[in-house]
Amino acid sequence: MKRLLVLAVAAISMLAQAQDYPGTKPITIVVPFAAGGPTDRVARDLAEAMRKTMGGSANLVVENVNGAGGTIAATKVAKATPDGHSLLLWHIGMAATPGLYRKLQYKPLEDFEYLGLVNEVPMTLIGKPQLAANNYRDFENYVRANSGKLNLAHAGLGSASHLCGLMWQAAMNLSEPMTTIPFGGTAPAMNALMGGQVDIMCDQTTNTTGQIEGGRVKAYAVTTAKTMSNHKLLKNYPSLQEMGLKGFELTVWNGLYAPKGTPAAILKQLNTAMKAALQDPAFISKQDALGAVMVTDKRVEPEAHKAFVAAEIAKLKPVIEAAGKFAD
Ligand code: ASP
Repeated sequence: MKRLLVLAVAAISMLAQAQDYPGTKPITIVVPFAAGGPTDRVARDLAEAMRKTMGGSANLVVENVNGAGGTIAATKVAKATPDGHSLLLWHIGMAATPGLYRKLQYKPLEDFEYLGLVNEVPMTLIGKPQLAANNYRDFENYVRANSGKLNLAHAGLGSASHLCGLMWQAAMNLSEPMTTIPFGGTAPAMNALMGGQVDIMCDQTTNTTGQIEGGRVKAYAVTTAKTMSNHKLLKNYPSLQEMGLKGFELTVWNGLYAPKGTPAAILKQLNTAMKAALQDPAFISKQDALGAVMVTDKRVEPEAHKAFVAAEIAKLKPVIEAAGKFAD
């Protein structure tokens, strides 16, 4: 009897919590990388769109928790109170880090509630403005001849830029690895590249298109299977696969997650708000301009996204092992 009473009280308080949600307390979207970078940009645009779809009064804020390729932020959210006020906006790193870290403080498939897929973002291979090469072929020849002397910037072990750098070096079968330089995100890495302190980076189009257009970095290739012929700027660059790197394809996806145990009614509200945000024309046009791709099928749904992440973890493990000699 006592147990039944306890359960009833818990159910009532969860219901009350869900009814009051979000209330005046902020909903914090934790971004695992530095402000101003591609993941941060998606999170801020999404927060703005979700604020609208949650009635305009919800207080969504973004918190940047950099370090360890995103795993510090993921740990923080996995261990946060599951009340719908702590969310994580992460990317392919969710699936890449299990293959790169000996020990994670959370289980990617067990310690989160999946809210769904936000978008997909191709990557671009770019170089510092001082590089002499003006096309991919010359760039590749230069890299092959000088790899031991070159620096590759990235956002930490297991970040998308790191993964791309490893896969690219492995696909070229370089005789000597480049020196990899980790940053707290690709926003600071981009500053170092534009300033010529590092030589090369592979990063999401959401961070690179503006700098390519402004001539502040050199662009050489995209990581989609084919040239992005529908994008007004990126259509000018070949895909790595077209340049002879057989089977090379890498697309970053962004997903939204809550800590395990977040009440179902709150998850439903968040999922509805997220999906409505993905239909917001202002959000869509910002994403389009930056080369991101909106997904309109059932892949955005929580269960489908979770199954996809599980498949990505399995798919990336052997890729990471094969590229292992370039990891440091
Ligand atoms: N582009 C990033 C990555 O390489 C991180 C960031 O958003 O700053 O994973």
